[in-house]
Amino acid sequence: EEEKSLNFIEEIIEEDLRKGTHDGRVLTRFPPEPNGYLHIGHAKSICLNFGLGQKYNGLTNLRFDDTNPVTEDAEYVESIKRDIQWLGFQWAQELYTSDYFDTLYQYAVDLIKKGLAYVDDSTAEEIAASKGTPTEPGMPTPYRSRSVEDNLRLFQQMREGKYKDGEKVLRAKIDLANPNMHLRDPLLYRIRHVYHHRTGDKWCIYPMYDFAHGQSDSIEKITHSICTLEFIPHRPLYDWCIEKLEIFPSKQYEFARLNMTYTVMSKRKLLQLVNEKFVESWDDPRMPTISGLRRRGYTAASIRNFCDKIGVQKRENMIDVSLLEFCIREDLNKTAWRRMAVLDPIKLVITNYPEGQVEELTGENNPEAEGGEGSRRIPFTNQLWIERDDFMEEPPKKFFRLGVGLSVRLKHAYIVECHDFVKDADGKVIEVHCNYIPTSKSGEDTSGLKVKGTIHWISAPHAKEAEVRLYDRLFHDENPAAADDFKSSINPDSLQIINKAYIEPDLARAQAGKGYQFIRLGYFTLDTKSSPDHLVFNRTVTLKDSWAK
Ligand code: ATP
Ligand code: MG
Ligand code: MG
Repeated sequence: EEEKSLNFIEEIIEEDLRKGTHDGRVLTRFPPEPNGYLHIGHAKSICLNFGLGQKYNGLTNLRFDDTNPVTEDAEYVESIKRDIQWLGFQWAQELYTSDYFDTLYQYAVDLIKKGLAYVDDSTAEEIAASKGTPTEPGMPTPYRSRSVEDNLRLFQQMREGKYKDGEKVLRAKIDLANPNMHLRDPLLYRIRHVYHHRTGDKWCIYPMYDFAHGQSDSIEKITHSICTLEFIPHRPLYDWCIEKLEIFPSKQYEFARLNMTYTVMSKRKLLQLVNEKFVESWDDPRMPTISGLRRRGYTAASIRNFCDKIGVQKRENMIDVSLLEFCIREDLNKTAWRRMAVLDPIKLVITNYPEGQVEELTGENNPEAEGGEGSRRIPFTNQLWIERDDFMEEPPKKFFRLGVGLSVRLKHAYIVECHDFVKDADGKVIEVHCNYIPTSKSGEDTSGLKVKGTIHWISAPHAKEAEVRLYDRLFHDENPAAADDFKSSINPDSLQIINKAYIEPDLARAQAGKGYQFIRLGYFTLDTKSSPDHLVFNRTVTLKDSWAK
């Protein structure tokens, strides 16, 4: 194992451990809002938070940040749990910010009693105006000077449902001239008469992110609360609340979110792709979601490895999606079983091989693994399917495949030499005729012949059929989110469906979740919608980086 240098968060933690902060305890949390499926960006946060928990003998909580009942749903909760576990992590406790609503309410009452929060009847516009601008200080609204008694009564009435949405808010009383806009009397609570997927109709006031997040960290005694860079300006408010409430001093640290080329990474945008049917679902194999990547054939190990390679930075950057593809190729090259499939078939007839004879050849499952992980039987006959583009009527120089007078090796079988072909009435080639060399059988070749090309094939009478789905990038733009309309660069050809491909018979027993290398074509896996009567394979990734730069 190569020695890896510490990232800046590990340095902070190791310093805390040296100083004995929190008695050497490390407790992190992963705090998704259940308003969408997790994406590869979340994987970075998961690997970081759970990874730190593991590395420092600590723990990691899963906390659903469910303070916005309008957009949240139990379906998302379930998908998030499934994805984290699939990635290989287990939380110490499953928690919900909504479980802290009573405590958070008490905290708000505490602030009011300390003269540090007030009920404001202003409209949203008036409140925005009261905050001033980055260059101009704000001005108090008439409600800022309300008495503690009035504030306590009004806040309680807000809770009791006496007011309509937007009629009143609770604001912190901090500093309307603070250079940090987040400290200019930020909103702590708002009225929302909506049903919550966990608390039902118990509440009609809901805490704002800034009043819920840090306090939830503190309630759980989180030691290192790690979030993305855009929360840097929120940190003074995070610290202010904890200090004024005199509660456990969790600390917030910020790292750069993952941005990746040729995709979008915000749940809001991903939801639009689903709702507007640009993709089939959240787990469409073109989506950058964990569930989409899984369905596409990505392994958890490849995603963890990717997160490890990109590291943890303090500055925003853009990661090339080809790094993710590199990671899955590296993994599947070691683990995928080799098989043959023909996507665009043309018939090859071996004219000197006895009609009706079947020979059982063998092919190793995995030449990269010690012992090859066993082998499978491959039937061979004089009627084969090969790829249409492995034959050319007028082959150019250096075409090391088939054309009249050219020879190739059929993988795991014999060398064949093409001597003829047949066209249909439209002039389309429908058959390629070859002679095989009986002494050239793979593994026992005494022919002394050398050929440059090896092609894949399937015995036609034994071939099984499958639907095969090939994917391209979902967007043409390297950074679709930078455009006015991110949907303007959607690639209309991101999915190519091959309704009838031929696969070798053993693939009818393909296992869900396992990777297969279709020789020369890429890595494939069974789709979740595949059934024994209708096999469907997804191409995870091509064998080589074929993306033109
Ligand atoms: P989105 O913008 O996609 O809705 P979010 O930050 O609102 O993302 P949350 O559910 O709140 O989504 O995220 C849970 C955790 O995952 C947060 O701690 C957040 O910082 C982290 N996270 C979200 N997106 C990324 C990303 N692209 N890279 C790294 N971490 C991320
Ligand atoms: Mg969030
Ligand atoms: Mg969000």
